[in-house]
Amino acid sequence: EDELAQPVEVPNDKLLGDLLPIGFDEKSCLSRYQSLLYRRGLSRKPSSHLISKLRSYEALHKRCGPHTDPYNKALENLKKSATANSTTDCKYLVWISFSGLGNRILTLASAFLYALLTDRVLLVDSGKDIPDLFCEPFPESSWLLPSDFPLTEKFNGFNQKSNESYGNLLKRNSSSGDLSYTYLHLVHDYDDKDKLFFCNQDQEHLQKNQWLIMKTDNYFIPSLFLIPSFEKELHSLFPDKEAVFHFLGRYLFHPTNSVWGLISRYYQSYLSNADVRIGIQIRVFDAKSGPFKHVLDQILSCTMKEDILPQITKNQEPEFDRSVKPKTVAVLMTSLSGGYFEEVRNMYWENPTKNGDLIGVYQPSYEGYQQNEKRNHNRKAWAEMYLLSLTDKLVTSSWSTFGYVAQGLGGLRPWILYKPENLTAPDPPCGRAVSMEPCFHAPPFYDCKLRRGVDTGAIVPHVKHCEDMSWGLKLV
Ligand code: GDP
Repeated sequence: EDELAQPVEVPNDKLLGDLLPIGFDEKSCLSRYQSLLYRRGLSRKPSSHLISKLRSYEALHKRCGPHTDPYNKALENLKKSATANSTTDCKYLVWISFSGLGNRILTLASAFLYALLTDRVLLVDSGKDIPDLFCEPFPESSWLLPSDFPLTEKFNGFNQKSNESYGNLLKRNSSSGDLSYTYLHLVHDYDDKDKLFFCNQDQEHLQKNQWLIMKTDNYFIPSLFLIPSFEKELHSLFPDKEAVFHFLGRYLFHPTNSVWGLISRYYQSYLSNADVRIGIQIRVFDAKSGPFKHVLDQILSCTMKEDILPQITKNQEPEFDRSVKPKTVAVLMTSLSGGYFEEVRNMYWENPTKNGDLIGVYQPSYEGYQQNEKRNHNRKAWAEMYLLSLTDKLVTSSWSTFGYVAQGLGGLRPWILYKPENLTAPDPPCGRAVSMEPCFHAPPFYDCKLRRGVDTGAIVPHVKHCEDMSWGLKLV
């Protein structure tokens, strides 16, 4: 018998403590139940309330999803010009595919949680590549918006100025809405009126609308925790505030077989045999492309100072016990540039480590620049975020949603490389994140009751400002 053809043994808890539903065909999405081959299980236990909420969401999605009777009826309402008194009980939230892949993963999780809280069905705009990157997460139904959806052509054009937006609706002072849908503009350039989305009374208002269409590039979940009507439900869904994206991400995002091939081949070839795996995610937000010396220095000073990577010695005859098998460390680096990886790899080739550890340094790709529309580019980006999430210790870059996805999926509290200013690395070069949650980069600072500005990072203990962006908000 051919040994290679044997099925791989999958660990028992492949449903991640019932976070995942049963009933999927395993072959069509190998990653869904095989993810535990390469990683520890969940870093926390999902609440029983979250599990039952997910099961009832799946039932709702199946009942109201694409091409069901309620969906077809709702579609007819949508085509009428004015708000229909909704006779069907299914309401929808359409997520528009927008921005870089890390951003999209965070906004999709945010939209899903908003749908859970408001009993809406989440429908996903395929964009260029969503079905190529992610398996279907809900059993016996699709989360993809059907390609004949009547508004798809408008998605690209929706922006801050769109007449259909909630903010502009408020400016026109038209209370009930003159359209059969409302566009929610939650992109970083949104204005004070758009931001009223995060107020209780506005949520009440939006509840009446059968169709909401959302465009965002932000992880807005921290601000959902500040909306009084959601507070209680969120608390029982997520008693552990630090693990919101961890659970939602592990529930929703399963790499398709083509991406899983990239992940599993790489993992088995370069990472699985090491004693320790270290991830280093380098994202440089600079007009020039680099590599920059100050960034390399920052990576090295951070990883040495924090004891993530071993020191090297110039002494070619280091003193350690040669009878003991040396520890092997695999360092997975990701960056658009290959420059940092080459330097780190060469350093550990040309010099011995003080403690005798053997350091292998690997980087899957160096694509040069961001190419959101290219298929293989985004497959690789997704595979790299996932691979980073499989490491034991993770170093990430400030402001990068690419790193947030890796830390959240992995259940890792990363060391964050602080953002360089004027081509100079900050001192200290990095610090440990207080939680594994992503940062909301463009939160509102408004007290809906008092109708004035407020520091939304100082209202409740579990919503704080981020380590890497002082005005951002994150759950802790
Ligand atoms: P952010 O800009 O760092 O917040 O992350 P996004 O994922 O939203 O956008 C950056 C995009 O640039 C990614 O989706 C990739 O297309 C590309 N990119 C950035 N860094 C890397 C990297 O290390 N590896 C790969 N393969 N692509 C990257």
